[in-house]
Amino acid sequence: MPLIVQKFGGTSVADAEKIQVAARRAIQAQQQGNQVVVVVSAMGKQTDMLVDLADQLCEDPPAREMDMLLSTGEQVSVALMAIAIHSLGHKAVSLTGGQIGIRTDSSHTKARIQSISTGRMRQLLDDGNIIIAAGFQGIDEAFNITTLGRGGSDTTAVALAAVLEASVCEIYTDVDGVFTTDPRLVSEARKMNQVSHDEMLELASLGAGVMHSRSIEFGKKFNVPIHIRNSAVFNDEMGTIVGPMPESEERSVSGVALIKKEARITIRGVPDQPGTSLSIFLRLSEVNLAVDMIVQNVGAEGQADISFTVLDSDLREALQAVEKAAAELGAQGITHDANVSKVSIVGLGMATQTGVADRMFRALADTDVNIEAITTSQIKVSVLVEQEKAMDALLAVHREFELEKPARARVTYSDLATAEKRTDASTVVDRLQHMEELTIEGVVLDQSQARVTMALVPDQPGIVARIFEAVAAEDVLVDMIVQSMGTDGYANVSFTVPRKSVDQARSVVGKLAAELGGSITHEPEIDILSVFGIGIRSHTGVGTRTFQALLEAGINAEMINTSEIRLNVAVASGKGEAGLAALKEAFRDVLSEVD
Ligand code: ADP
Ligand code: ASP
Ligand code: MG
Repeated sequence: MPLIVQKFGGTSVADAEKIQVAARRAIQAQQQGNQVVVVVSAMGKQTDMLVDLADQLCEDPPAREMDMLLSTGEQVSVALMAIAIHSLGHKAVSLTGGQIGIRTDSSHTKARIQSISTGRMRQLLDDGNIIIAAGFQGIDEAFNITTLGRGGSDTTAVALAAVLEASVCEIYTDVDGVFTTDPRLVSEARKMNQVSHDEMLELASLGAGVMHSRSIEFGKKFNVPIHIRNSAVFNDEMGTIVGPMPESEERSVSGVALIKKEARITIRGVPDQPGTSLSIFLRLSEVNLAVDMIVQNVGAEGQADISFTVLDSDLREALQAVEKAAAELGAQGITHDANVSKVSIVGLGMATQTGVADRMFRALADTDVNIEAITTSQIKVSVLVEQEKAMDALLAVHREFELEKPARARVTYSDLATAEKRTDASTVVDRLQHMEELTIEGVVLDQSQARVTMALVPDQPGIVARIFEAVAAEDVLVDMIVQSMGTDGYANVSFTVPRKSVDQARSVVGKLAAELGGSITHEPEIDILSVFGIGIRSHTGVGTRTFQALLEAGINAEMINTSEIRLNVAVASGKGEAGLAALKEAFRDVLSEVD
């Protein structure tokens, strides 16, 4: 019998009436011939209320006790949901994370799932019960209650769908699906009919709070079709399918995401030599913090500044960790800015199309938004802007890419059934032993790129737009872009282009430099090492291992960019082969296929 997982978020179970509505939906799915597992979140704002209570008692509450506390929210809603189903004349059993056997590691408040036992659930389902599973929680080896991080019920739902080989995982929430950007912020945002795993992974990790990004890791790893829809809509209207395919093959950008409260940390005056990035990644990964927008700015006399961003809520912890790294490196000092926001465009199409980033930069310049930093990956461009300009920036970029305009026709369940090629059962079971463990699919070396750097660019709106418009006008495909955080009113912009196009790029950027007063350097050949897979940025160990391996091989990282699916490091030409060998060795135990 087919099995479906339905997840109801906080607003969808906020009161007794809503719980009853959700209960009816589960019963209906069972009556249509499915076995049904329902995953619920805590009611309404319950989790926030519990966090607030703890904060009133303690500035830094112990993580273990926070998990004990927060897990109660879901325990209330599973019991109420089971009671509601019972009162409608159907059989239901509620289970906590521990009772389902959701085993996690012991990193309280951000635990990762290691395994899930299916025996008890299968038995209960075969006996005709609807299972009501508590989202967001698990249990570690010592039977401590753990939680998966805020928003983690999505991850519980998709993980259960994976182990139970559900035909679909339905995520019921308070909007109609995944929109081109947060519909509560931009009224012209459009619901996407479909979005690819990779795009959704990036969007979620770059701020689209509609899904917990780790749930998308499961969706991708185990090929679980995810259908996000509105719990208040009662017709067959499709929401958004997260699957292998993008909404449109032609579009360069699919969505825009905003993280309003970001913080930038800069370590000033560190030696520009192998090992600097490592110390930082190492210290931050010790406290399980994933960094983003890491930018190294080569300064005078072998000294560099390294900047990166973290969530504002992680700032205090990050600063503590970074102080240790700065001391180790003999850095001159640390500065930070908690008044920044990150705006990102995401789309599979941009990997192959020229003239995407410059359009974003131009839209921002025309809205008088200064770009404080830029980083890219194959399928995203992120910029850091001043917090009070964040909304203008989001809107301007959404308009520039005309995301409000519909893409191609919607998909249906039957399309899904044919599009999906499910992994065979034994492979799934095998991989499930590792659940949320890191998946590294490969390590590669790209020897096609050259680097161009324009130093001392005046840090004001419109300059980077002009640089990349000039390059795009030559039809040159730019790969990595890194703009350092502007200090003293000046910034550096480095980017890579195909080796054959480097002279073209240099000459157009050179003209601009002459006009604007910047200076140009370039390397006609640069080697780019990439580690790719799933969960690359959020598994903090990837950065650590990569930089450890490069340090041991005596290789300096010249440019770095990270995303959920890739870590790219540009190194001097001639160092690529040795770097590749070092990385293959470093990831030997986790490489799912060594090429
Ligand atoms: P739930 O409680 O159901 O898990 P969440 O609040 O976690 O719901 O997620 C739904 C919210 O995500 C929406 O109300 C919306 O404001 C926000 N959101 C952010 N980005 C997006 C987006 N790109 N598409 C849809 N919703 C988004
Ligand atoms: N209740 C938890 C939270 O609010 C988990 C979730 O809703 O997904 O973060
Ligand atoms: Mg949520």
